[in-house]
Amino acid sequence: MALIVQKYGGSSVADAESIKRVAKRIVDTRRAGHDVVVAVSAMGDTTDELLDLASQVAPIPAPRELDMLVSSGERISMALLAMSIHSMGFEARSFTGSQAGMITDAQHGSARIVDVTPIRLREALDEGAIVIVAGFQGFNRDTRDITTLGRGGSDTTAVALAAALEADVCEIYSDVDGIYTADPRVVPKARKLDVISSEEMLELAANGAKVLYIRAVEYARRHGVLIHARSTFSSSEGTLVIDETRRGELIDLFPQLQGEQMEEPVVAGVATDLSQAKITVLGVPDIPGKAAEIFKIVAKSGANVDMIVQNISAATTGRTDISFTLPKSEASTALRALAVEQDVVGFASLVHDDQIGKLSVVGAGMRTNSGVSATLFDALSVAGINIEMISTSEIRISVVLRGDDLAEAARAVHTAFGLDGEADATIYAGTGR
Ligand code: ASP
Ligand code: MG
Repeated sequence: MALIVQKYGGSSVADAESIKRVAKRIVDTRRAGHDVVVAVSAMGDTTDELLDLASQVAPIPAPRELDMLVSSGERISMALLAMSIHSMGFEARSFTGSQAGMITDAQHGSARIVDVTPIRLREALDEGAIVIVAGFQGFNRDTRDITTLGRGGSDTTAVALAAALEADVCEIYSDVDGIYTADPRVVPKARKLDVISSEEMLELAANGAKVLYIRAVEYARRHGVLIHARSTFSSSEGTLVIDETRRGELIDLFPQLQGEQMEEPVVAGVATDLSQAKITVLGVPDIPGKAAEIFKIVAKSGANVDMIVQNISAATTGRTDISFTLPKSEASTALRALAVEQDVVGFASLVHDDQIGKLSVVGAGMRTNSGVSATLFDALSVAGINIEMISTSEIRISVVLRGDDLAEAARAVHTAFGLDGEADATIYAGTGR
């Protein structure tokens, strides 16, 4: 008998029928003799609809009230799920984030979990109940207010519960079968992975893979939580996200981990990201301190800079261009902040480009294999796709391209690294959550 935490995303509980299907799945797990704790997302597009409603009554809704509003989405699904389980003859109890002991900081809309005190959950489990927890929400002790963890936060709820309850596994259910070598909506020949290291998963999530949220993967890595990403719509095994150093201890529970290690591919997956924009600062005086000035301004505007490229300066002018990428949603604030300081920094002009796409290849095998960048660049060149920026980390190479080229680039690169599967990937509902 194990303690299993399961998380169901919005598309898995989109309507009454889906809720019943999820309830049955939970009951089956219980019948197999396990203790079950469930974190559930709001039904379908509920969160988006609530945010939309809020923007109709107020141009900038008060953050505290916004959290009161959107946290209600998960209360609906948790109660319906518990009722559905009751009607199948099993004991289930739903809890809000605060009842479940999800203690966060006070940052409305993007709160961080600071403590988990699942006293009531333990009691319910001891009494034999299935526990259902509203995902995505918590409670701050100082303000005594409800908080939410940021979009997609139910993954983090599930992982945090698994860590606090020392669960054997945290199963994250969505409408895809697991983690693929690329987004199957972009690369139909993407293959499902049986296992991926949390280190690689973190890089993929940080670079656009949406199947798991980065904060959940980070939390799992820090607290040693084993994630099993799988589909609500099939019973097939999904993908295990493991800490490579723990592979040995996990083989008893998951025999599929045996042997896999032998033939580790150099590249685990390809991630694509259309959410970034590029800003170029033209005609920057090429003297010490200018990059520092520019990025201080950008940081103060609250932007999260990703890639940076500085060109060689023109000998005749002693000036250079600096380009960087950042989330599209942060670009206009950063541009305004830079424009205000134009004379102080002494640059010539600013260019904003929001039509870029970022492609990344990720693999722990890169540490010991050379030639990965050559293969990547060659695949793009054969496809006739121009590279605008390049950045690398120990286990990743990213390139910025035209956004319109991104899908074709991903398919070409996926093929070049030998990642293509035999058949097209299965996608059940279509949102990836
Ligand atoms: N319902 C929230 C959202 O849509 C949290 C989640 O789905 O994980 O972002
Ligand atoms: Mg959702």
